[in-house]
Formats: sequence, C-alpha cells, structure tokens
Amino acid sequence: MNIAASCTEYRAIAKDLAARFAPRAAKWDRTRSYCWENVTELADAGIMGMTLPTDLGGQGASWLDTVVVVEEIAKACTLTARIVVEANMGGISAIMAYGTQAQKELVAPYVLAGDKPAICITEPQAGSAATQMTTTARRNDGGYLLNGTKHWITGGGVSKLHLVFARVLDETGAELGIGGFILCHDPDAGHDAQGFEVVGRERTMGLCGMPEATLAFRDVFIADDFVLQPPSGFKHGFADLMNAYNSQRVGAGTIAMGVAAGAMEHAKRYLQEREQFGRPLAEFQGLQWMLADMDTSVHAARLMLQEAAHSRGANGSPFPDITMAARAKLFASEMAIKVVNDALQIFGARGYGGEEPLERMYRDVRMFTIGGGTAQILRTQLAGSLLEMRTPQTRGAN
Ligand SMILES: Cc1cc2nc3c(=O)[nH]c(=O)nc-3n(C[C@H](O)[C@H](O)[C@H](O)COP(=O)(O)OP(=O)(O)OC[C@H]3O[C@@H](n4cnc5c(N)ncnc54)[C@H](O)[C@@H]3O)c2cc1C
Repeated sequence: MNIAASCTEYRAIAKDLAARFAPRAAKWDRTRSYCWENVTELADAGIMGMTLPTDLGGQGASWLDTVVVVEEIAKACTLTARIVVEANMGGISAIMAYGTQAQKELVAPYVLAGDKPAICITEPQAGSAATQMTTTARRNDGGYLLNGTKHWITGGGVSKLHLVFARVLDETGAELGIGGFILCHDPDAGHDAQGFEVVGRERTMGLCGMPEATLAFRDVFIADDFVLQPPSGFKHGFADLMNAYNSQRVGAGTIAMGVAAGAMEHAKRYLQEREQFGRPLAEFQGLQWMLADMDTSVHAARLMLQEAAHSRGANGSPFPDITMAARAKLFASEMAIKVVNDALQIFGARGYGGEEPLERMYRDVRMFTIGGGTAQILRTQLAGSLLEMRTPQTRGAN
C-alpha cells in the first residue's frame, strides 16, 4: 500500500494500529510467540519498509516519520515496535546505504512482506568488543565460506534475511578486515543456505515473543553478489557498517521512550481512578510530582531522538549523527527504566501483578541499556567524540 503520508498522518495510522496491537501484547509475552498477526497488519499498512525508496516499493518515509510511528506502537506493544525498527532502521539501512541495486531488489520484497534482516555481530567472546569477533569469511571460488557462531541475534529463526559480520580472509588466510555478508535462508524460494543452523534460543526476562537466537555457520557459501561493499572496503569497512548502528540506536531509544510514554499514560489514568484516604491519588502532591517528572523526562528524550533522527542526511551521511544517536539512546534507555518503574509504583500492588501491562513493560524496557550498545559503551563513545579521542572502545565497540 502506498500511503505517502505526512508525519501527522503517519501518527494517525500508527495510533490506529497500536489500538489493535495493545490487547494482544500480553499474549505474545505469555506464549513467547512471534506476533505474525501484527506483522501482517504492519505490512498491509505500508509500515514494514516504510523508509525504503518508492522505486523499491517503500514509502520513502523519513527517519522522523519512523520515530513517530515507533513511539506510538511502542506505547502498545514493545515487541511490535522492535519489528518496525528492524524493518526500517536496522540492518536494512546498511543494505540500502551500501548495497548494490541487485541486493536492494533482493531484500526489499522480503521486508515489505514482513521480514527484517537479523543483524549478526555478537559472539560468545565478542560482546561490546565487537572487533574481537572470530567468525570468518574465507575467499573461496566466486564467494566466501562463513564459519563461526553468533549469539543474541534478534529474530534469529524467524528472519529469512541476515546481515552477518565476519573477519574477511583471502585464499591464503590473510586477514583483510571485517565485512558484511547478506545471508538469505529461504529454501522455498531457492535460497538454501546450507551449513546455516539455528542452534538455540535465549530465555529472556522481557520482550519474550522475540527470539534471541544462537546461529551457527559451517562453511556457508556466500556468493560475491551477496557481499556488502562499504565505501572504505574491508580494511575500514567495519566502521562504515557500524555507522548503520546509529540508525538502530535511534530506533531502540525511541522504543524505550515510547514504552515510557505509554506507562505514563497508564499512570495518569490510574491517578484519576484510584482513591485512597477518601481522595483520588491525583490529589496527592508527591504523586503529582512523579507524573510531572515523568512527562519532563519523556519529552526531553523525545526531542533528543527527533533531533538525532532529523540529522540523517546531514553531511551526506545515510545515517544519523553518531553523537546525537549515542546521546539520545543513552538518555532514553535509562530514562525509560526509571519512568516505567515510577509508573508501576503508582499502581501499587496492582502494578506488580499481571492485571495491568506495567510489569511487562518494566521487563521489556530493561534491555535497552544493554542491547545495541550498552549504556557504558555509549558513554565511552560520547565522551570519545566530545574529547576527540579514538580508542579501541570508541572505534570497535558494539
Ligand atoms: C535483547 C537483546 C538483543 C540483542 N540483539 C542483538 C542482535 O540482534 N545482534 C547482535 O549482534 N547482538 C545483539 N545483542 C547483543 C548486544 O549487542 C550485546 O549484549 C552488547 O553489545 C553487550 O555485549 P555483552 O552482553 O557481551 O556484554 P559485555 O561486553 O561482556 O559487557 C558486560 C558489561 O561490561 C560493560 N563493559 C564492557 N566493556 C566496557 C568498557 N570498555 N568500559 C566500561 N564498561 C564496559 C558493559 O557495558 C556491560 O555492562 C542483543 C542483546 C540483547 C540483550
């Protein structure tokens, strides 16, 4: 569907979708199942791949439009908001920035129909220190052979598309740098990535409907046509590829901010509904101040995230500004944990129990200071850019 909407229209579309997603959110959490029903509705509404150019079937929507949509959906269902981010601001943004026309034409239909590329960077021994990865891609007869293990891969097992980061070796085994490889595993469509296997799924405290998988690669052949060529080539390509993470960070921060905004709305309602000592909770000044602080924090995060989203394209970069993205994600993720916690507190025992969505939101939001760049790494990167310092922690960190 081509909606070619304005920011305001996108918000209205997202609110409409969110109203349908909210009553289903507990089900995905309880059953640890992927929200395919929501994905179909997102695809029908043109939200999957909304940022893709119109000649590839997308809406050509801006990052600003996307953060508006993500905020509204995150208020209702964190899981679904993550899918919107991954389908617009995750690995797909790297493929759209650096991919060949053929690569873009391969992945676009998948994303528009409901898939999203799983970004495969993290390994058991390479978390924040992503450049310590040991997965290799060794030159072999018109392509590369991938070998290694990735873990904590969001959407592993449900995504057909993957963007796998690996150390690139020539035929002799000499290292050329770190590269990105597009792996499409869709046997029904003739893309059978032999040697690729989903070998496990993490148990998570929140976002329980999203598989966080361990993936194994054993001599998986990636043809040259599926190698993502960043502008700097393999030698400095990791930095180019990681720039795509600035988009992901803006997306992740926006989800956290949206969850906080949603929790605040619930708290506001309850303050007016619930009476103690013969008065509505809303009349107690201590709670009024909590609400005011929540609003101020959410609003500050929203502005930082919108600023970061708007910076995309400045200086010719296809990604948001690295400093704005790090600052916004850092602030939004820590803010959201506090705001959701305070909202839960306002509900008393009812917030701790399962009748309200607060306990789920609290578990969901906890991950945003970890995944996609921990709060410590974001602080290090932010300080590094303020002080113009380049260290392994500022250059090679995830
Ligand atoms: C829900 C979820 C989804 C994820 N999805 C993906 C995905 O799709 N693809 C993917 O590739 N990865 C994914 N990850 C992995 C994520 O990127 C890593 O968890 C993250 O980079 C941190 O790595 P780690 O967990 O190994 O922690 P570690 O790197 O081992 O860090 C442990 C602690 O030490 C701190 N620390 C580390 N180095 C420093 C330093 N130099 N200075 C100060 N403190 C430091 C960290 O901040 C952290 O608190 C996901 C993780 C989660 C939780």
